[in-house]
Amino acid sequence: MKKLQIAIDGPASAGKSTVAKLIAKKYNYLYLDTGAMYRVITLMALRNNLDLNNERIIMDKIVDHTDISFKVGEDDQLVFANNEDVTLAIRQENVTNNVSTIAALSSVRSALTEKMQLMAKNGGIVMDGRDIGTTVLPYADVKIFLVASVKERALRRFKENQQKGIDVSLETLEQEIETRDYKDSHRKVSPLTQAEDAQLIDTTSMTLEEVVNKISAIIDQINNK
Ligand code: C5P
Repeated sequence: MKKLQIAIDGPASAGKSTVAKLIAKKYNYLYLDTGAMYRVITLMALRNNLDLNNERIIMDKIVDHTDISFKVGEDDQLVFANNEDVTLAIRQENVTNNVSTIAALSSVRSALTEKMQLMAKNGGIVMDGRDIGTTVLPYADVKIFLVASVKERALRRFKENQQKGIDVSLETLEQEIETRDYKDSHRKVSPLTQAEDAQLIDTTSMTLEEVVNKISAIIDQINNK
């Protein structure tokens, strides 16, 4: 079996991480949540009350001093910043609502992209994000662009939040998703966009199983060549 590089990109809450984890498990590949890396930098910058638009300060005070690592947890992947478990902290609303500002800084993107490429160099990896197929792994073996309607994405996030006991209205979630997508698609450096050679999958009316099967079929076709 070949050790492929699989890139899954798409807008916020399109189900990328859920699908990516299942694909990684099925093929015994590594899973890398690249959004978590931008979230870690955002969390650290917020904690230090830094100006999120000040590229130099964010680089000098945070990026250059923050070691981001991942560990396999009991039911999910754990995210560490300088050995502190920040898995839950990086999902907080204030991080979610500020991460696009940090992700628009070109030096931050270059530094994180370099780390991502290093982790992917031996293949056997599924990475999800916004610019994996276009910038991080332009030669990835499989490129998927996962989308769903804003209403459906907000609803999925709403149900997820309910299970976790987080109370945010459906309208607020819809607005947050739209704002983040707009910022991610309109930034100057590596904006969220479908790579020319990526396969578009609209999951609005698909089950998780259907999405996983569709991607698996693409992978199996390459493996059987
Ligand atoms: O995937 P997730 O929603 O956790 O990503 C958080 C944010 O990180 C995105 O909204 C985007 O601003 C940024 N991001 C990015 N490039 C990636 C992955 C995430 O700009 N490859």
